[in-house]
Amino acid sequence: MVNDFMSAYNFNFQHSYKELDGIFYSCVDPTPVADPKLVVINETLLASLNLDFSNLSDQQQANLFSGNILSKGSSPLAQAYAGHQFGHFAILGDGRAHLLGEHVTPSGATFDIQLKGSGPTPYSRNGDGRAALGPMLREYIISESMHALGVPTTRSLAVVSTGEQVRRETPLPGAILTRVATSHIRIGTFQFAAAQKDKTLLKALLNYTIDRHEPLLKRTDSPALSLLDSVIQLQSDLITNWLRIGFIHGVMNTDNVTLAGETIDYGPCAFMDQFDPKKVFSSIDRMGRYSYANQPKIIQWNIARLAEALLPLIDENFDKSIEVANEKINGFEKIFESKYVSMVRSKLGLFGEHKEDKELYTDLTSWMHKHEKDFTNTFRDLSKERLLEKQDYQNNDFKDWHKRWKKRQEKNDMPQSSSISLMERTNPWLVPRNHNVERALQAAQEQDLDPFRKLLESIKDPYQENPKFGYYKSPPKPHERVLQTFCGT
Ligand code: AMP
Ligand code: MG
Repeated sequence: MVNDFMSAYNFNFQHSYKELDGIFYSCVDPTPVADPKLVVINETLLASLNLDFSNLSDQQQANLFSGNILSKGSSPLAQAYAGHQFGHFAILGDGRAHLLGEHVTPSGATFDIQLKGSGPTPYSRNGDGRAALGPMLREYIISESMHALGVPTTRSLAVVSTGEQVRRETPLPGAILTRVATSHIRIGTFQFAAAQKDKTLLKALLNYTIDRHEPLLKRTDSPALSLLDSVIQLQSDLITNWLRIGFIHGVMNTDNVTLAGETIDYGPCAFMDQFDPKKVFSSIDRMGRYSYANQPKIIQWNIARLAEALLPLIDENFDKSIEVANEKINGFEKIFESKYVSMVRSKLGLFGEHKEDKELYTDLTSWMHKHEKDFTNTFRDLSKERLLEKQDYQNNDFKDWHKRWKKRQEKNDMPQSSSISLMERTNPWLVPRNHNVERALQAAQEQDLDPFRKLLESIKDPYQENPKFGYYKSPPKPHERVLQTFCGT
């Protein structure tokens, strides 16, 4: 099945993951599909990875990105991991994904190249190893939006339709996504290692992760603690970014949290329209565990699971390990709070630090909640001239808030133009709204890719006002609202 494309711009694969003990993965090839067709390919990302498959026909590219043929140097594997899913521990693993290899760019950066939906593996449990077209296009468009919005994320290189149907609640067209990630090492990978009750395995995974992500950590007194510190920093940055743009991940299980701090596994995720701290989209999240405002608490809980897994490596003395790990977990709140407050200041165009800043933010969002105002558009409006003349803001509570805000801005010690440009860099003009995403995916399922392509075009420069995409800026009308996104991925 291996093909040598003889191209200078082919994948430059290494397979460092295979240096870990075999318990961490299973070597398994993708299962070929009936009739692969290229749906979308990310030329910009290809170029940034120094890849160029233009010497291949569309059909050859479809064969490549479906796993029907493997490029030279591929050596597919499925990774083992565990995870707490909605709070319950389970042994998992890539049930429908194949890591083809780690692509090394000329500058020495390394990226996992993974096919998702590429067939069963030893970790498939009862799953079919496949994915439907809609959810793979959803991951493509949302991950590429996140990247454009400046949020760390895995990227999407291509989607190929398989010419086969997958059985969900109804039969759906099948597809395969090619995902690019700094790595796929998850909190759940450490939980898997810890569950083996073999310190050498755990230590090997720790060393591997540090070598791959942050080699300098190896020189610290306790590499395990340093890794924990680094994850706390990366994940608090990530969640702060999510809150900034109104993003709700939807399935923050520990297997969906990576050590590299990238957003990963786009399932029932969405951007909220009207501000509501309790907003959830996932049809199975009945308790609001993964609601918008609960995301910081959940990440802290998830990081505590990582700390638990690392305990044997933190200190020789187990009680001491627990004490130190607890300190780190409790320290999360302060670290997160400082990043969060700094983010809300930027959203309000505030420089310097004043005690009323966070309250100003909370009062504005409470007003938005009470009056069912749109999160993205309200924040973007703040940088507009003559805001108070707009119909939406003809409201006494808002006018009172506006006075307090203006008074605080006087303390900025910076020109008003700087405040405006700070807000315009922080508050996106456009996000891919759920009703537009759903509409585009629905059309794609019916073989019309135009709405998907247009939506994709609109999200490339999301901080830049562009009347051409004004249509996508409107919140959904009541009948257009998407209340839930189903997990039938
Ligand atoms: P997710 O909720 O997408 O993060 O997936 C949770 C686990 O279920 C992972 O181990 C996946 O590999 C596995 N999984 C999800 N869908 C399928 C499928 N259709 N076939 C096999 N495994 C799956
Ligand atoms: Mg997952």
